[in-house]
Amino acid sequence: MKIAVIGTGYVGLVSGTCFAETGNDVICVDIDEAKVKAMKSGEIPIYEPHLAVLFERNIKAGRLTFTTDLEAAVEEATLIFLALPTPPGEDGSADLSYVLGVAAQLGKIIKEYKVIIDKSTVPVGTAEKVHSAVAQNARVDFDVVSNPEFLREGFAVNDFMKPDRVVIGCTSARAEKLMSELYKPFVRQGNPIIFMDEKSAELTKYAANSFLATKITFMNEVANFCELVGADVDKVRRGMGTDTRIGSRFLFPGIGYGGSCFPKDVQALHRSGQESGFDFGILTSVIRANEEQKTILFDPIRDHFGGDLSGKRIALWGLAFKPETDDIREAPALYMIDRLVEAGAEVIAFDPEATQNVKNRIGEKIEYSHNHMDALDGADALLICTEWQVFRNPDMVEVKKRLNAPVIFDGRNLYDLESMQSLNFYYKSIGRSTVHPI
Ligand code: NAD
Repeated sequence: MKIAVIGTGYVGLVSGTCFAETGNDVICVDIDEAKVKAMKSGEIPIYEPHLAVLFERNIKAGRLTFTTDLEAAVEEATLIFLALPTPPGEDGSADLSYVLGVAAQLGKIIKEYKVIIDKSTVPVGTAEKVHSAVAQNARVDFDVVSNPEFLREGFAVNDFMKPDRVVIGCTSARAEKLMSELYKPFVRQGNPIIFMDEKSAELTKYAANSFLATKITFMNEVANFCELVGADVDKVRRGMGTDTRIGSRFLFPGIGYGGSCFPKDVQALHRSGQESGFDFGILTSVIRANEEQKTILFDPIRDHFGGDLSGKRIALWGLAFKPETDDIREAPALYMIDRLVEAGAEVIAFDPEATQNVKNRIGEKIEYSHNHMDALDGADALLICTEWQVFRNPDMVEVKKRLNAPVIFDGRNLYDLESMQSLNFYYKSIGRSTVHPI
């Protein structure tokens, strides 16, 4: 099949590459000329495990190409995917200007039947809006389909190639047939393609992300309560997670969820509720609780230093919003950096993949280290914000030697309390008792 993917970010590039991998001819379009130029010369603009090998293979085979020319890209394609940003507007609602802007352009340039597929995360009713925007100028028949994407950054290739399910909102038999054919190679193991109406498909994505954000937030609140009453959230988590009705995933407490999806999708669903006169009370609480969680370690850090952080040097491990990605959108580390620097602390940070993105965002507001151990030299404390594998089992004797004092604030509960006690650290984590050196 001939496919155009408009917007070549995390979703567009992974989708386009995986569609090419299953034998389709894919042309990826982006307005960012530098990005397109880089991709044309074989450079991947994002860090995503396992993407490089597919990217190179399909470029070499001539099935994956890149352009900034929307008109040329859609001319040959029957399926046109919109993988465009839907960032939060000022009131929290999804900004549809990218999606509707491209839809209006498509209306002017399509010359034969096309299926326009919305892969961006969008509020209920967007398929209708896209339809109207295209129809304003279109002189040919077309269908609009909603096909929300559930891939996770860091696991995107695997998630796309072997999805738990594919959700397709579609009321046209012609488009449904094409979509079934396209996704057949991805559901060979019996994982379903679930067809439904467009509105239900649109809401499925928001409901799924908001549910997961709520699960994380619930566990964060339980962790905070554990600290108050002297319980251990790790034990509570295991006790709860073995109940098959609950499941063990998304129960790890930490310093809040971030990323490009959960924060904006929870906000957008909450806002959609308000627009329809519906009070999503549970989401109001989730948004508030997560805001507080992102900097929950700030007060303990400041208190540890007698209320004064001026001149204190804090080594920070992990800048990306989660491991295995270079994405720093809404990363809790950035909120901690703001608070620490504002309070007069010096921060020296290390991240395996996200450092350049942070440099581009905040420049020399903090120092950057080339590896995690060097960041510790002369620091008064270590703060862990992202659970990269490399941080899980460091040589703690060396960590202790390099730090000015053996002090760790761990926003991801990476270490056992017993080991930290036997190593004689001050160790503050989330939802567990604080270890004090003896
Ligand atoms: P992104 O910001 O990484 O990529 C968007 C791309 O679109 C950018 O490269 C940008 O230059 C390009 N673009 C903007 N305007 C354009 C235009 N007019 N024409 C062509 N290209 C244009 O975004 P993303 O993370 O890939 O997210 C895209 C959508 O998918 C969002 O709605 C998001 O909520 C949703 N989503 C994201 C993820 C994720 O993990 N990132 C997962 C599922 C769904």
